Amino acid sequence: MEKVKAKKHLGQHFLKDESIAKAIADTLSLEGYNDVLEIGPGMGVLTKYLLDKPTTTYVIEIDTESVAYLDANYPKLKDKIISKDFLRYDCNEIFEGKQYAIIGNFPYNISTQIVFRTLEFRHQIPEFSGMFQKEVAQRICEKKGSKAYGILSVLAQAFYHAEYLFTVDEHVFDPPPKVKSGVMRLRRKEDFSLPCGEKLFFTVVKTAFQQRRKTLRNSLKTLNLSDNLREDKVLDLRPEQLSVEDFIALTQKIEADGI
Ligand code: SAH
Repeated sequence: MEKVKAKKHLGQHFLKDESIAKAIADTLSLEGYNDVLEIGPGMGVLTKYLLDKPTTTYVIEIDTESVAYLDANYPKLKDKIISKDFLRYDCNEIFEGKQYAIIGNFPYNISTQIVFRTLEFRHQIPEFSGMFQKEVAQRICEKKGSKAYGILSVLAQAFYHAEYLFTVDEHVFDPPPKVKSGVMRLRRKEDFSLPCGEKLFFTVVKTAFQQRRKTLRNSLKTLNLSDNLREDKVLDLRPEQLSVEDFIALTQKIEADGI
């Protein structure tokens, strides 16, 4: 069968290097779940290594040409190919509340949306690993104090242990992307419930980083903090100076303040 022709609008950059594909598949611990969902399998370079594992592999792919290719070349994937847009698909149609891992050499044009959707379904996703553009992979794993530290880092690390694993060069893709790539892994924390209101926590983090150059006293004005709380010294800081734990503590203070 003819190879799939890369489509730019779908973020298609096919990985050519088999050893990197295998290394990505091997990032999964396979502990705590029986099912794996690969997002954006393309022609299946990573999929074939996943199919060697004892877990059950499902793939979700938006491109019908890639789906036809997978159908023709991977008999083991029979009934496991979901021909849909991951961002609009309800994965519980398949997983029905079960735990599953997510993996992929992801479509970079929707990488942050994939991470946010994973966070939304964190109760079912103990592990998430794969390849993004390098900056995004780094940002997810970044600690406080750096320029790259932001919403993605704090929200992902509130629930997951994040590890940046290795960098991948442009030339191992067809066509090569304009940026370097990075492979990272998220492993859900044993206790991933927060000791504060989770909705308010998301609001505080997002609001703080929307104006990252301002102090929290300025950026959090929209949350109508009491005069008492507004005196608090933590509000002299900018958002990148707060660790995940600091954001949790701040959310608790805001809750105690009566929002
Ligand atoms: N994993 C393959 C392909 C990577 S390119 C490889 O390593 O070679 C990214 C893949 O994601 C493409 O196959 C593209 O069609 C698919 N994709 C893009 N947007 C998607 C979406 N919203 N849902 C599911 N798949 C998507």
